[in-house]
Amino acid sequence: MSDYDFDLFVIGAGSGGTRAARIAAGYGARVAVAEERFLGGTCVNVGCIPKKLFVYASHFAEDFEDAAGFGWRRPAAAGSDGGPAAPSFDWSTLVANKDREIERLNGIYRGLIEGAGARLYDARATIAGPHAVSVAGRTVTARHILVATGGEPSLPDLPGIEHAIRSDDVFYLERLPERLIVVGGGYIAVELAGVFAGLGVEVTQLYRGPLFLRGFDDDIRNALAEEMRKRGVDLRFNANVAAIERTANRGPSGGGIRAMLAGGGADGGDGEAGTAAGAKTLEADLILYATGRHPNTAGLGLENAGVATAPNGAVLVDAWSRSNVEHVYAVGDVTDRINLTPVAIREGHCFAETVFNDNPISPDHEDVPTAVFSQPAIGNCGLTEVQAEVRYPEVDVYLSTFRPLKHTLSGRDQRSVMKLLVDAATDRVIGCHLLDPDAAEIVQGVGIAMKCGATKAQFDRTMALHPTAAEEIVTMRTPARRLRRGEEAVAAD
Ligand code: FAD
Ligand code: NDP
Repeated sequence: MSDYDFDLFVIGAGSGGTRAARIAAGYGARVAVAEERFLGGTCVNVGCIPKKLFVYASHFAEDFEDAAGFGWRRPAAAGSDGGPAAPSFDWSTLVANKDREIERLNGIYRGLIEGAGARLYDARATIAGPHAVSVAGRTVTARHILVATGGEPSLPDLPGIEHAIRSDDVFYLERLPERLIVVGGGYIAVELAGVFAGLGVEVTQLYRGPLFLRGFDDDIRNALAEEMRKRGVDLRFNANVAAIERTANRGPSGGGIRAMLAGGGADGGDGEAGTAAGAKTLEADLILYATGRHPNTAGLGLENAGVATAPNGAVLVDAWSRSNVEHVYAVGDVTDRINLTPVAIREGHCFAETVFNDNPISPDHEDVPTAVFSQPAIGNCGLTEVQAEVRYPEVDVYLSTFRPLKHTLSGRDQRSVMKLLVDAATDRVIGCHLLDPDAAEIVQGVGIAMKCGATKAQFDRTMALHPTAAEEIVTMRTPARRLRRGEEAVAAD
């Protein structure tokens, strides 16, 4: 008989914790799981899923417009002004339908955990000792502890920051704002700026650096900035907020804030955007901060088990997700490796295989395909030019910019960008960067090819699928330029 109450105690029933719990239980381990807030974690409740549903919602305005070029007409004379009926959008319907779907998913997660035979505590858990966990007013013991507590939004410390909302709040707003300021230039800021602009909100996005999406491919970042401006987002770079205050005149959607601007945001920053040149303030109904996330370890009691953390609170782990304490592991955002749902799930699965099936496997963090659900979307896999130049002496850059077929009739001024980076010495494709409405769907397949070590010649041998945007990936024949380490890029003949 074991001396412990459980073989495994999982703290956090998000993407990583749930997968680990049910795989471990499937191997016969006696598992307990604690979840303090919402089953399914960030992804299901305030992340990927509601975000993607909102992205779908925000596309329809554009779809209605695009339909006209294909012969579709709105019903005549049904509008209140006697003109053609305009489609209208109801925020509360979207939120209520989203809530219903999330509730369904919460139930599925409960079923996954309990159905696997694990004991689920709907409560906060903290580590009380090397093998001890405090939960629901008692202390239980476990041979292994898995920390899977995820992350939470980070807000900078500035006067009036309490008036700002975070991405978590966006999914529960009672009313759609008319004017929104989005601060930040990462995944969340870009995606949510696009969502709200698509829903008809007047969006100003402020980013503190010269170009948002730092770390992404430069051609894609520049092209997306152009596309977002075409869609009406007032994008301001080299811009930030010094202080926020509430205004006496509350906006029609209930907010009412004034942001005192710092940096170039005062006049449009990069000289392209901005409405009131020289204005030092911006007014809006709401201000959303999407300025990064940090690992959720405050008050968790990691010190009671002697678990080492990084300065930002991340649990430090090895390739098998094991901390410095032999029987304490951590997976997902709390380790701040690659903060994506499929990565958290894989890390949780590998942990359970390693520890409970005597099958040591470590998650592969190379060439992880990712997408930004911007409008149009970004799809990436592998290295950017900047990274490729450091790793490889010579890199060929294949680049194609084109107008998607659909927009030849819709009339929409939208460009797609497809880009491949190829190691000149081995012909291997080492980077893929896409900007296209279907980029996220396309890049998953490219990710498989890259994982198999596919060469450009093999891409070229693959028959194109016509007519698609994706066919560009196998039809780009001439490099746009060759990068030589330490030299200026050379244009191809
Ligand atoms: P989480 O899913 O955050 O789970 C941690 C759980 O632990 C939470 O449920 C929390 O309540 C619980 N918990 C914390 N402390 C305790 C405690 N002491 N006791 C009990 N329970 C506790 N990723 C993608 O791949 N694609 C996307 O499109 C995408 N979109 C995103 C959009 C947004 C707005 C955000 C915020 C994130 C998005 N992500 C996306 C990232 C993705 O959501 C995370 O990488 C993923 O959820 C991490 O899973 P996890 O298991 O590490 O943590
Ligand atoms: P990111 O780290 O991607 O971006 C944070 C942004 O905030 C950066 O532009 C950063 O600027 C800026 N910033 C940081 N601090 C400040 C500050 N004090 N003042 C002004 N700006 C600041 O974080 P997100 O919150 O957007 O997303 C968190 C993670 O969640 C992502 O990294 C990703 O892993 C995951 N995610 C994935 C999605 C997907 O797969 N589609 C969607 C959403 C999230 P700078 O670049 O200058 O540091």
